[in-house]
Amino acid sequence: MIIALPVILQGPVRPNFAQGPRSLSALKLLRLSVTDRCNLRCMYCMPQQGVEFAPKSDSLSPKQIIAVAHAAVDIGVTHLKITGGEPTVRPDLLEITRGLSALKPADLSMTTNGLSLHRQATQLKDAGIDRLTISWDSLQPRRLARIAGAALATDSSQVCYDRGMKLLEQLQQGFDAAISAGFKKIKINTVVIGNVNDDEVADFARLTLENDWTVRFIEYMPLGDSQLTANYDQSPSTVDNQLIIRRIESVFGSLIPVNRDKEAGVGPAEVYRIQNSTGRIGFISAMSQPFCETCNRLRLTSKGELRACLFDGGEVDILPALYPSPDPRKLVELMRQCVLEKPEVHSIRGNRSMSQLGG
Ligand code: SF4
Repeated sequence: MIIALPVILQGPVRPNFAQGPRSLSALKLLRLSVTDRCNLRCMYCMPQQGVEFAPKSDSLSPKQIIAVAHAAVDIGVTHLKITGGEPTVRPDLLEITRGLSALKPADLSMTTNGLSLHRQATQLKDAGIDRLTISWDSLQPRRLARIAGAALATDSSQVCYDRGMKLLEQLQQGFDAAISAGFKKIKINTVVIGNVNDDEVADFARLTLENDWTVRFIEYMPLGDSQLTANYDQSPSTVDNQLIIRRIESVFGSLIPVNRDKEAGVGPAEVYRIQNSTGRIGFISAMSQPFCETCNRLRLTSKGELRACLFDGGEVDILPALYPSPDPRKLVELMRQCVLEKPEVHSIRGNRSMSQLGG
């Protein structure tokens, strides 16, 4: 039974928020976490021992994921992003990609840790991925192994080095394969962790001198249960991006603002470039400068939860709209409910881990 809502010509005076993130019209991006599984154990994402992954049977099928994206595209979502966990560990990723690409979004991108790109880059490009974002948190082998959870504190320096070098080689092969497959304007996500890799920001920025890439420095966000959330109150690992900017400028001079519209995607990064550089540098400062008033996204977890916010706040179970078969009208109604759950500003900590939400 359709309830005919009375048309209210003059509603209560509401903060402009009403037309903001709590309205479907503000939605531009749907992030699709196609799995919570991953082949890494990043210290800012998981505890050292890893997490218990959801049973594979709990994961949405390709048909269901595509149906949710279809409903989103029908109400004006223009950008779709595939995330994880690590999406490349999902065996039917190409089937999902082809289905999403067939919806003809303005942009279909994927965030990956890059370790399987040397095998999959061409297939992903052919299946319809337009752009890649690759996570890369250190240029130093031992440190990368530690951050990615590929080596433990108890492992010998040589073991750390060997495992880190293997990760760097796989990343390098992944970049080469992505470039040969025709991916342009690759984005690199670097999570800056205080007293771990924050001394490498100038080295990462240097990658943009000759490469048409965007290196994005992400302030560490204490989400869920990870090695860094354990004692976050005692030693917060978040480094204010203003400090990162000063460090980069102390090496390369003043950064030049770049009009965000010139940057691919609809992300929240503040974008700059170094004088005479080919690439750009971005800053995602969710902790020091929350950007909730311009939030334009929803997240779908691999188990069928629609998330209003990366941190806390609303979650809507969409399984009732997917069984016995996907119902587009119910899906849109649940999206409408979910955007209303967006907090005015996000909480300090998040109640779910990165691997479950896809960042
Ligand atoms: S941050 Fe990404 S790559 Fe690292 S463990 Fe989490 S899901 Fe995997």
